[in-house]
Amino acid sequence: MLLEVRDIHVHYGKIAALKGVTLEVEEGEIVTLIGANGAGKTTTLKSISGLRPLTSGRIVFDGTDISKLQGHKRVLAGIGQAPEGRGIFPGMTVQENLLMGAYARKGTFREELDEVYELFPRLSERRTQFGGTMSGGEQQMLAIGRALMTNPKVLLLDEPSMGLAPMLVAQIFEIVREINQRGTTVLLVEQNAMQALQLAHRAYVLESGRVVKAADASGLLDDPEVRAAYLGGD
Ligand code: ATP
Repeated sequence: MLLEVRDIHVHYGKIAALKGVTLEVEEGEIVTLIGANGAGKTTTLKSISGLRPLTSGRIVFDGTDISKLQGHKRVLAGIGQAPEGRGIFPGMTVQENLLMGAYARKGTFREELDEVYELFPRLSERRTQFGGTMSGGEQQMLAIGRALMTNPKVLLLDEPSMGLAPMLVAQIFEIVREINQRGTTVLLVEQNAMQALQLAHRAYVLESGRVVKAADASGLLDDPEVRAAYLGGD
């Protein structure tokens, strides 16, 4: 197992955001977390990347307990994150933004840059454009590209489709599939449950800080409760 999250509890002050979340991600998978606003999806990703401390429980990555490891050491260990809201540097060029993604490591990053530019020809055309002047979809590509610069074993994606027009959403999902086919494991948080379930191998449904369902993604697409609650279906 590449990533094991075991019964984690996370608080913001007195508010319990996660009340015992357990999930697993195997190497090579795309796993998606779906759930309503405030269910704890973002908090789960932040706990894995080290941006939120655990109150209790543990996280094991690649055989090592990383529950107390600092965030930048988790990046070095192979956990890459493209955060919700993108968080790119508006006053830096596309290429500078990408290189910032690799700051924690030594090297020239020629290969990583080439690979990101191959995945995202649009970023390659716009290397010298300022990040802040890129469109919403381009900024999302930049955020994903930056996370790939550390060559992660697992890529954590928080709502990559947020705020994008339907055509761009489809493009981003296609790129996530391509990233996975090139060998990167993906843990994807999405509001866009239908498309996330069509892309993912397995899925977890979060409700109020707990996992209420875990299944093959295709099974959840046919699950009447999931259809009614998250897929706007019958
Ligand atoms: P969304 O889909 O709306 O992004 P989510 O499933 O990602 O929701 P989280 O952002 O993980 O949910 O939030 C889980 C709970 O923790 C919510 O009740 C939220 O209000 C609370 N929470 C999140 N961040 C903070 C914070 N910085 N301070 C206080 N409470 C927070």
